[in-house]
Amino acid sequence: MREYDLIVVGSGPAGSSAALVAAKLGLKVLIMDKARHPRVKPCGGGLTPKTMQLLDWLGVSVDDLILGECSTVYVSNYAGTFALRSKEPLISVTRREELDKRLFDEATARGAEYENREVVKVINGRGGAEVMTRDGHAYSSKIVIGADGAPSRVAASLGLINEGSAAAVMSIARGPADLPCLLDFTAVRFGYAWIFPQSDGYYDVGLGSIVKQRYGSRLGEYAAGWGLEAGKMLGHLIPYKSLRPVVGRVMLAGDALGVADPTTGEGIFQSMYTGIAAAYAAYLAVRNGGVIYERLIGNLLRNNELASRVSLFVYGLDTQFFSRFLGATGYASGDVKDLLVRLISGRAWYGDVTKFMAAKMPKYAVKGLMKLG
Ligand SMILES: Cc1cc2nc3c(=O)[nH]c(=O)nc-3n(C[C@H](O)[C@H](O)[C@H](O)COP(=O)(O)OP(=O)(O)OC[C@H]3O[C@@H](n4cnc5c(N)ncnc54)[C@H](O)[C@@H]3O)c2cc1C
Repeated sequence: MREYDLIVVGSGPAGSSAALVAAKLGLKVLIMDKARHPRVKPCGGGLTPKTMQLLDWLGVSVDDLILGECSTVYVSNYAGTFALRSKEPLISVTRREELDKRLFDEATARGAEYENREVVKVINGRGGAEVMTRDGHAYSSKIVIGADGAPSRVAASLGLINEGSAAAVMSIARGPADLPCLLDFTAVRFGYAWIFPQSDGYYDVGLGSIVKQRYGSRLGEYAAGWGLEAGKMLGHLIPYKSLRPVVGRVMLAGDALGVADPTTGEGIFQSMYTGIAAAYAAYLAVRNGGVIYERLIGNLLRNNELASRVSLFVYGLDTQFFSRFLGATGYASGDVKDLLVRLISGRAWYGDVTKFMAAKMPKYAVKGLMKLG
């Protein structure tokens, strides 16, 4: 049986970030993925400034992969439309197959090995774990990171099943060249539609909701409403309820762990963040024995818990009356927009949002009731 310091199952943003950092730290790393890059991954391909910063910290340049940049993002709900503006692009639009291949190539260039195999089971043992593949191979490693997305075979091997997932669909659509970047909260119940401009009249268009639902022909119809012709529709789950991050010598990262933002569905930043933290935890575990991963990602998990509460509030906007009430409060004022820009950028977290809501909501409520009354 071949032995490694670290086996990383899955080479999306979580797995490749983990493998890249662990290889840089000098661990003997094997990536196992059932797919070969470039592989298709349904995604908006939207990178926020905090994701760009992580890529920068990793030393991975994606400048040549950016198809479109949105410094202005329009947000629509039943109360109207307002613009979020920033000097830096709030959303940089990529194609996921290209982004994931770039991260994977960087990890293997740094010395991580790769095998194209499907993992069916991971078993914790004394001082390590065993990884079994569908084609009957077994591998041994001091530490395993399950970064195999959703639903995760590695998590299932540990007896963990993620039950809190959003569901989203996307398509590459073609049409007029001048549509802006849009988040539209009137398009789908308990969620939103996005239009992310790529280049030459191509757009990543999608619908996502925290409540699983059948989207059927709705994506094509939504795109057509903007004069866009949608291509093939692809969809996937976005898990936002975290499982146990560590069981024995096995850690979970990214969608396998369930760390996407429950309000926005953003998951690339969270996947890279947990992948990087898991790699450092693996390095320390190989050197010193203990696995301190949960401590390293504690702040992110707490942030996501607060985000779940905020998402209950945001998707209240789904009802037309509530939106109009919010509209009457003048909630889309400068300080709200500033907070949203900082949240997307990674300069504010959901703790700042809940503090802001506690401080300002009474004033806004009185204003709204007086106007509506
Ligand atoms: C429609 C849609 C739009 C989205 N848009 C955005 C967006 O614009 N911005 C954003 O930040 N997030 C977005 N997300 C969320 C984001 O795509 C995910 O959170 C992110 O891809 C998770 O990365 P990951 O590395 O954990 O998993 P993945 O990217 O899913 O990678 C998992 C890897 O594991 C491999 N694998 C799976 N099972 C096995 C197995 N048994 N054995 C071996 N290999 C295996 C797969 O082949 C894959 O390569 C979107 C999600 C959806 C569904």
